[in-house]
Amino acid sequence: MIMSDSRLKIAIQKSGRLSDATLDLLKKCGLNLNKPKDRLIMHVKNMPIDLLFVRDDDIPGLVMDGVVDIGFAGDNIVQEVKLKRQTRGEVAEFNLLKQLDYGNCRLSIAFPEEKQYESISDLGGKTLATTYPYLTGAYLKGQGVKAKTVQLKGSVEVAPRAGLSDAICDIVSTGTTLEANGLKEVATIFRSSAVAIQKPDLLSQDIQKLVDRLMVRINGVMQAKESKYIMLHAPKTQLDTIVDLLPGAEKPTILPLAGSEDMVAIHAVATETVFWETMERIKALGGSSILVLPIEKMLG
Ligand code: ATP
Ligand code: ZN
Repeated sequence: MIMSDSRLKIAIQKSGRLSDATLDLLKKCGLNLNKPKDRLIMHVKNMPIDLLFVRDDDIPGLVMDGVVDIGFAGDNIVQEVKLKRQTRGEVAEFNLLKQLDYGNCRLSIAFPEEKQYESISDLGGKTLATTYPYLTGAYLKGQGVKAKTVQLKGSVEVAPRAGLSDAICDIVSTGTTLEANGLKEVATIFRSSAVAIQKPDLLSQDIQKLVDRLMVRINGVMQAKESKYIMLHAPKTQLDTIVDLLPGAEKPTILPLAGSEDMVAIHAVATETVFWETMERIKALGGSSILVLPIEKMLG
């Protein structure tokens, strides 16, 4: 299978921590797709889009070189590749389309628990093992610390115990891996999430339109995830108080209730979490039949 110029080319991670969330997001945006087993390219059936399944490390470069139109990758990888390319004088431009709500993690320096550590200057003259030598090097330089980095593609957290380094700089989400390896987090150097990026050169009008449509849908999916649809019955006398309690709800719909003079129905979209406490307070004010429903899609 080959990729065609008349179709939007998107690079995503083949298998790893971002694959399922990215595929899920694209499916929610209406792309008809099934994850291929061993295929590199997949043609989306209901839209002129081709998906390219690659390693996350390759995605920023494919976008910067214009091999694909857009890519979904961790900002940590995007920034690392950007710094690496800038250092080497290679093309390092891209457009940030959207910061996404998954793949949240941080890049942190960790030090053996039993060793004394007071400040970042304690790293002077030390060796740090990391998958991100450019981000780590830039941070250390910014802090005025002269330290060495050694690049490891995996198992960074065992490097100090294996005698390969004094400290590490690695991706952390909960910190359990660090703890299990006798390391303490001493400095966060970068906070990351997945991002959607676009190649620097102009896209054809049709392809750009498709990207714009996809981004509107991505925004809609992300908004819908945070929002809930609330329906309830409320006494007319408490209407304003109850509406004020609905989190982030603007312009609720107020409907008459058949056969009831003093009650109305309220329908509203809440843009924040609806807590049990809020529902209990509404009930205490005379509200009833309180329903909180998930929203699948939102537009406009
Ligand atoms: P590949 O085989 O594609 O090279 P990989 O092993 O390098 O994969 P993954 O571990 O799948 O990469 O991580 C991909 C991205 O997911 C990371 O670059 C980071 O942005 C994000 N990530 C990493 N660890 C976590 C985590 N614990 N929680 C959330 N997101 C994470
Ligand atoms: Zn990788």
